Amino acid sequence: MKFELDPLAYDMNALEPHISARTMEFHYTKHHQTYMDKLKGLIKDDPLAEKSLEEIILQSEGGIFNNAAQVWNHTFFWNSMQPQGGGEPDGELAGQIDSEFGSVKDFKEKFLNTATGAFGSGWTWLVRTPEKRLQILATANAENPLRQGHTPLLTLDVWEHAYYLDYQNRRPEFIQAFLDHLINWRFAAQNLQRAA
Ligand code: MN
Repeated sequence: MKFELDPLAYDMNALEPHISARTMEFHYTKHHQTYMDKLKGLIKDDPLAEKSLEEIILQSEGGIFNNAAQVWNHTFFWNSMQPQGGGEPDGELAGQIDSEFGSVKDFKEKFLNTATGAFGSGWTWLVRTPEKRLQILATANAENPLRQGHTPLLTLDVWEHAYYLDYQNRRPEFIQAFLDHLINWRFAAQNLQRAA
């Protein structure tokens, strides 16, 4: 794999007022970059270094896994958001959300409850399960649903560093802002299409 972060698809201040440029700068250029730097250092004498990031995630444990998964999870998180996001999904994704959760409103409520209730550091995901159903999942620390055979559609970082500068301890407000103003439904729909 190439040990470089993908560039962000939007400017650091593009998600304001929901996520500040200051949070984005710390989160992308410090946190995300540090996971990449650590991965590069840990893997340099390991045959895994020749593999793709997804293969590394599926085949590693310990520090290599934690840093590789955090690199992947953050890139996926940046793509799960867009300026002027939120709104409603359409097409196949909208149909599946309705049949699995009842409505987009019910989906958001369940996602909010799952992400709020997740203890400590981790991620909340919308995935397509191996049984081809949609599911909301909370994972701890760096854990990534690819390891259980799921296809991730969207993710939200609920580590404190994702929201503390902007929301302090008010995690539910951050989650609500993600759902209402930032979520990139087109990205989720593309991931669903690729999984089909
Ligand atoms: Mn993070």
